[in-house]
Amino acid sequence: MHAEEFRRQGHALIDFIADYRATIEERPVRAQVEPGAIKAALPASPPMEPEPFGAVLADVERVLVPGLTLWSHPRFFGFFPSNGELSSVLGDYLSTGLGVLGLSWQASPALSELEEVVTDWLRQMTGLSSAWKGVIQDTASTSTLLALLCARERTTNFRVARGGLQAEERPLVVYVSEHAHSSVDKAALLAGFGRANVRSIEVDERFALRADVLERAIADDRAAGRVPCAIVATTGTTTTTALDPIESLASIAKREGLWLHVDAAMAGSAMILPECRWMWAGIEGADSIVVNPHKWLGAAFDCSVYYVKDPEHLVRVMSTNPSYLQSSVDARVTNYRDWGIPLGRRFRALKLWCLIREQGVSGLQARLRRDLENAKWFEEQIARSPHWRVLAPVALQTVCVRHEPPGITGDALDRHTQAWAERLNASGFAYVTPAQLDGRWMVRVSIGALATERLHVAELWTAMRNAIG
Ligand SMILES: *Cc1c(COP(=O)(O)O)cnc(C)c1O
Repeated sequence: MHAEEFRRQGHALIDFIADYRATIEERPVRAQVEPGAIKAALPASPPMEPEPFGAVLADVERVLVPGLTLWSHPRFFGFFPSNGELSSVLGDYLSTGLGVLGLSWQASPALSELEEVVTDWLRQMTGLSSAWKGVIQDTASTSTLLALLCARERTTNFRVARGGLQAEERPLVVYVSEHAHSSVDKAALLAGFGRANVRSIEVDERFALRADVLERAIADDRAAGRVPCAIVATTGTTTTTALDPIESLASIAKREGLWLHVDAAMAGSAMILPECRWMWAGIEGADSIVVNPHKWLGAAFDCSVYYVKDPEHLVRVMSTNPSYLQSSVDARVTNYRDWGIPLGRRFRALKLWCLIREQGVSGLQARLRRDLENAKWFEEQIARSPHWRVLAPVALQTVCVRHEPPGITGDALDRHTQAWAERLNASGFAYVTPAQLDGRWMVRVSIGALATERLHVAELWTAMRNAIG
């Protein structure tokens, strides 16, 4: 495509996206398609001859958009907010359009240095001390894998890096809350700990990891000749946004010589609000943290920031240094290839930079406060309605709710819950996530899409009461 054609099609594409965002409320939230319908509407073989780009755009509108579930819809209350603020979307286009790769500092100095600056901005915004250094990863899943690889190598004094898993006689153990995200299990498996060596620790009535149970598990493992290695704590669990007691866990980690990784993928965004920082009190005692600006904060996916206290250790675990990547300035610069798994690095810092500059810290704070107030309001409506119940403390923007009609319990209650959630989701009017808590189905309402105002939460509440039938 020539530059002039790009200019023309690019303008059309931007117009298309602007219209899509502006009129999104008129569309169904959940895609109204059957499995296979999208594939059936597309040619099975590639075109032999070039097609006009306009034909591609037309198919986007005709075929693809009906197959989207709309995360930017104001009545999207599913999973978690994945906010691509439009300024950040432009940053992402810019990254792609500039077409540079950060294999090393020299391969594109601005790419590395903007990443240093913008991860440091976010550090300051979330109230972390200057002891932390950040790097942008694709997802929290990757960040947590890095944390466990680092933990493994610190505990074994780099024996695993040298001799592989064969070098270890005694198994290393990772401790997580039973409410930890599935990515933690996956990271532990990929880092070679083995499923049998991931301890799932019981939670208290607020769904937070119980430090006393953790201490006993560590002692039991030591007594059995195993080697406690890492604790993964969560600030803002996926199901209920529960808050593990970071302060106590940090002191246990310190006393026992364990790595403490804090998964604040979702809730980390809230730490830009000083009034929320009690939620991870003790965070300075952790070894690593992950925060996903691509969730609530508004950076276009993918943008996950991994913070470490000791970048030297991370680099020692991750570094490979072939001659063709070395340069004379290496001692004075950050070579981010040594801070993670991939060699090639996108200019992801741009979308976070664009977001923070265009919104300002105060703009981001105001939006998050709006969402917190909406969640409180919603919680109050449910709490004062007969037969409706809020099932977990509402720390942030996620509300766990169940409708419990008199005389309906057990499996029948599960069927009732799943039936009304499905009616609501199938209607396309709003979208929520059914999930299990304490072995029973409930509905998670996650508030915080960019476009969601109080009105939309009120509309959801009405729709929920209609959906119970
Ligand atoms: C969303 C989430 C994850 C997974 O994030 P990805 O970036 O998709 O890997 C992990 N942990 C928590 C607590 C989350 O909220």
